[in-house]
Amino acid sequence: MTQPIQSDSVPSSPSVAAVPLIDLVAQHQTIADEVQEAVARVFAAQSFVLGDEVAEFEYEIAEYCDARDAIGCASGTDALILALMAHDIGPGDEVITSPFTFFATASSICRVGAKPVFVDIDPVSFNLIPEQVEEAITSRTRAIMPVHLFGQCAEMEPLWRMAVQHGLVVIEDACQAIGAEYRGRRAGVLGTTGCFSFFPTKNLGGAGDGGIITTDDPEIASRLRRLRVHGDTGGYRHVEVGLNSRLDALQAAVLRVKLRHLDDWTAGRQKNAGRYAQLFETYDIDDTLQLPQVLGERRHVFNQFVVRVKSDRRNEVLASLRERQIGAAVYYPSPLHLQKCFAFLGYGAGDFPHAELACEEVLALPIFTELREDQQDRVVEGLVEILELSERQSVRLKQTRAA
Ligand SMILES: *Cc1c(COP(=O)(O)O)cnc(C)c1O
Repeated sequence: MTQPIQSDSVPSSPSVAAVPLIDLVAQHQTIADEVQEAVARVFAAQSFVLGDEVAEFEYEIAEYCDARDAIGCASGTDALILALMAHDIGPGDEVITSPFTFFATASSICRVGAKPVFVDIDPVSFNLIPEQVEEAITSRTRAIMPVHLFGQCAEMEPLWRMAVQHGLVVIEDACQAIGAEYRGRRAGVLGTTGCFSFFPTKNLGGAGDGGIITTDDPEIASRLRRLRVHGDTGGYRHVEVGLNSRLDALQAAVLRVKLRHLDDWTAGRQKNAGRYAQLFETYDIDDTLQLPQVLGERRHVFNQFVVRVKSDRRNEVLASLRERQIGAAVYYPSPLHLQKCFAFLGYGAGDFPHAELACEEVLALPIFTELREDQQDRVVEGLVEILELSERQSVRLKQTRAA
């Protein structure tokens, strides 16, 4: 059976040597039959919006994250918006979040009429600096929205303390972090509500857009179930104005297949991350290249493998990698506080130096599960050549190391 495979990924390599940043075609080939079967099941039932398929998937995600409930919706962005709505966050309210993240983190806050308040990020974890969160709390603060960027959980414990002390809600932007853990607990149950995306390039990616919200609070759960269907409590009784934001049965069916493979796929990503560290170990990279760090008490799921290259060289390195047909990308090239649409918030250049420098230095390298060793070798060799890294002399231990 020959069937064209639709995909958002970089098209298949024209030359053997090319290494894509992500290869969704390679992933699909490993599960094509299972996916076809799941899709056929939905067509046979002709039930396309919510229904049993979605209910089963919600149950499985709740179990996966160890949450009481999971509520499917149309996208990760909608998950954030619905979560904010379910907590009655709107005009006059402030939500503290990161300026170094995907746009939707902050846009969801604006979309409900609340005000995003940015604080700077830690340069190693790329996640919120808890002390700065605390300093940003005002009488208008209603929520903290940490982002588990690139697949590693933010520092949560100080945020829990602040939330209790100031009566705040914690909404996790866990869109890149399904299966990530902090102190043995999964992303999605590290706050009041957790928001996930099933955009195709996420670790659990659908065949289009999709999202889900996790929570342990039964009242928030039932409010979310109502908000996603126009605030309808059943029988066209609308008790509040909600959204049309539902998960399609087709998405749920595909995602249920993929969820069964997620832990294997995550292990593959972790293995690739470990292998990068090993391969670079042979070289003196300290001054030029910083590899991502797995922090203590974390399970990092590596939605992205993001290195830092000294700011004056990053763009040149990116261009040279692309010339060599090695996939690389910048997540994210501009901090949110400097986006035109957020100018009304009154921030300026220099307000969040760590976030601004990260935008100039970050570089995402291929980390997808199906990345072959020869492909990964090419990524490392390419970088070594471009950066002219020298081989490490074992006697030449850096002073920084002793410090
Ligand atoms: C992907 C993503 C989102 C939005 O998800 P969509 O499903 O694309 O709407 C939000 N926040 C972060 C951090 C993301 O990576």
